Amino acid sequence: MSEIMNCPRCNAIFMKNQFRDVCDKCYKEDEKMFETVTGFLKKRENRAATMETVLTVTGVDEELLYKWVKKGRIHSKQFPNLGYPCDKCGKIIQTGRICDGCAGGLISDLKKFEDEQERKKQRDSSPSTYYTMKDKR
Ligand SMILES: [Zn+2]
Ligand SMILES: [Zn+2]
Repeated sequence: MSEIMNCPRCNAIFMKNQFRDVCDKCYKEDEKMFETVTGFLKKRENRAATMETVLTVTGVDEELLYKWVKKGRIHSKQFPNLGYPCDKCGKIIQTGRICDGCAGGLISDLKKFEDEQERKKQRDSSPSTYYTMKDKR
């Protein structure tokens, strides 16, 4: 299903579809920019270029570059210094939605939660009358 909307970039009216979230004109500009960026990255000496270098040399929009890496149009495996910001802390990452640090935090939070649940279960199932009496007080 397509709907008419305003281009988020230039405000022109266009038909939104699953492949494009900007108008025809901006889409073409994006594609041209994509060519520029991939053209730059194709050169062997630019393989290790950092985000900053790519942004400055090609003049590409930061968000656009992130989008391409995220969607896999630019393979972060081939370009070790390219990535996109972690959803939580903004650190540049290459896979998933959040960085290792944030993922680690999430895992330990989950672990804590599970431990808590486990303790609760053990307490509830323990036949100690002491706790029951204490609870009633
Ligand atoms: Zn537009
Ligand atoms: Zn993070």
